[in-house]
Amino acid sequence: MPKLVIRNGRVIDPATNLDKICDVFCVNGYIAAIGEKLYATGAEEFDASGLIVAPGFIDMHVHLREPGFEHAENIESGSRAAAAGGFTSICPMPNTLPVNDNATVTSYIVDRAKRLASVNVFPIGAITKNSAGEELAAIGSMKQAGIVAISDDGRPVMNARVMRRALEYARAFDIPVINHCEDLHLSADGDMHEGAASVRLGLRGIPAASEDVMVARDLLLAELTGARYHVAHISSARSVDMVKSAKARGLRVTAEATPHHFTLADVDMLPYDGNYKMKPPLRSACDTGAVTQGLVSGAIDVIATDHAPHSGNDKMQEFEKCPFGIIGLETAVGLTLERLVHSGKITVNKMVELFTTGPARVLGFRGRGRLISGGPADLTIFDSEHEWTYDVNHSYSKSRNSPFDGRTFRGGPVATIVNGEFAWRIQ
Ligand SMILES: [Zn+2]
Repeated sequence: MPKLVIRNGRVIDPATNLDKICDVFCVNGYIAAIGEKLYATGAEEFDASGLIVAPGFIDMHVHLREPGFEHAENIESGSRAAAAGGFTSICPMPNTLPVNDNATVTSYIVDRAKRLASVNVFPIGAITKNSAGEELAAIGSMKQAGIVAISDDGRPVMNARVMRRALEYARAFDIPVINHCEDLHLSADGDMHEGAASVRLGLRGIPAASEDVMVARDLLLAELTGARYHVAHISSARSVDMVKSAKARGLRVTAEATPHHFTLADVDMLPYDGNYKMKPPLRSACDTGAVTQGLVSGAIDVIATDHAPHSGNDKMQEFEKCPFGIIGLETAVGLTLERLVHSGKITVNKMVELFTTGPARVLGFRGRGRLISGGPADLTIFDSEHEWTYDVNHSYSKSRNSPFDGRTFRGGPVATIVNGEFAWRIQ
């Protein structure tokens, strides 16, 4: 039986308010004990003195590009990048080819992940067939095959009646509906946030209202149906505000923010550099501040990366032709420490919550995202001090589309343990 004991780390679990220097003993993939000076004969020892030991981080929004776009990423490479970023569980969005809109595709992903992935993979199924926004996908059979939520991410569900039915179905299956909130008529082929910066660069703008209109509609539908509803990659001040008041009214509504949306604003873009192009776009400094405040106040529940690999050739085109999205798994912890923890906005405990109990609550996970005896031994070990520089050419991802190449961070992942075994550890 493989045994591993993590000694003398600062063990933090927001789910139980645990925060003390102690040991975690893992046996055969499960947590056997958490406590001081644990007796662990025959176990591999890991000295975590000076390090933080947290429940395994969960990234509930990634794109692994398999099946269909394996030149940009696959389950193996994407999950290795996840492990190197400190994540023990990831949820791939269904915009693959074919789209994950039925149990056959879900099973394919689950089987491939079992054989090839470095971390746990919990797929998200499509809301509608082919994510075309018209007919509901096979939600029940996908759930049986292993999906944990539904989303047409990459695209919004534009038809309100379809969205209402999706919410009703999802409620029956007790899974959340995640919407990529964008009114396509309002965003009208824009390339970046609509504001002074887009005017200066002469690029077509995507107004914040394109997100806000969709969030407003969805909150009304969430109220109508009583379903669990989650806003993907929230980016505008208005939307954060609306989610906050919906929560105050008691709706089962949650939201996630990406590190790039609380780190960069439109004015930070290097002109015409495709590594700054994503959806939703980098917004105004005011929006960036509101997203940060939402994470502080609890209006936003989760940090998720929206890791979106695109091959070099695709990203090397002119800005207007360049696809949306950036990779983010390996920089998320460093950026969160930099922007939120070291800046004094949140504690490291709150940071752990945003990566663990937050997503676990949204997805209804019981054993993962927390530390319990008998639960799966998923652990993220990180520190808040060591200096390191992100070199995108050494990324485990197959793609290189990051605006954070060359950035120096203070603190980051040190080791990632998945089901009791090291999935990655710092060299
Ligand atoms: Zn999206």
